[in-house]
Amino acid sequence: MAVVVLEDIHKTYHVGSEVHVHALRGVSLTLQPGEFVAVMGPSGSGKSTLMNLLGCLDRPSRGRYLLDGEEVARLSRDRLAAVRNRKLGFVFQSFNLLSRTSALENIELPLMYSGEGLSLREIERRAREALDLVGLADRARHHPSQLSGGQQQRVAIARSLVSEPTLLLADEPTGNLDTRTGLEIMEIFQRLNDRGITLVMVTHEPEIGQFAKRRLLMRDGKVIRDEAVESRLMAAKEKEKLPAPEEEEEVMR
Ligand code: ADP
Repeated sequence: MAVVVLEDIHKTYHVGSEVHVHALRGVSLTLQPGEFVAVMGPSGSGKSTLMNLLGCLDRPSRGRYLLDGEEVARLSRDRLAAVRNRKLGFVFQSFNLLSRTSALENIELPLMYSGEGLSLREIERRAREALDLVGLADRARHHPSQLSGGQQQRVAIARSLVSEPTLLLADEPTGNLDTRTGLEIMEIFQRLNDRGITLVMVTHEPEIGQFAKRRLLMRDGKVIRDEAVESRLMAAKEKEKLPAPEEEEEVMR
């Protein structure tokens, strides 16, 4: 079954009584399990609006959205929040970690509020597993300020994974990172994708888009191109081509 089916989705924002912004003008899209999609396009083309809809953070003005076979447009707010918690993971450009809380606790949080009634022990076990998956098992007790930007983003990825989402949504995940660190994040995404996670990522960097399997190009609220990524890059390989890294600085504040 498709993870996502969008049928003729429109989104209009009403600004005052006169101005209507047509942020999406008829987007139809099907995502199968295991896809890795890069959403690209100029500023204002509707990428964030599309991500907000996919993420059940907003509703379409018109059209149908099936997530994992369930029509989400008609769900109540509470049900929508539940679907969001259970099925979706989010990774943002700005990491959005709680600063006075350890890496491990940041990852545990979604499970604390999931309503699944997991024991604290199970929550910690799952959080440690997610941390391990992003290669940060030895940083569990570090606070965000004691971690580099790339490490913080890896914690954020672990947090997005801990509830075992059907779909991972990433909004400019490498926007605040240098080239090498960006590649490390792409390496993790590609590894997760190999394990079967479906990924949608907004990026304005063409090179980052080359790590995906499929590329959507948006313009004026429409998908104007939808194509397989030719000569796809593998992040691990690209990393090898970079000059040797300088000694990693341990950030301790
Ligand atoms: P992108 O992410 O590609 O830069 P957006 O989805 O943010 O594009 O925006 C698409 C269009 O919708 C833009 O014209 C933007 O100004 C408008 N828009 C986005 N969010 C809102 C909002 N909350 N209220 C009014 N207009 C909005």
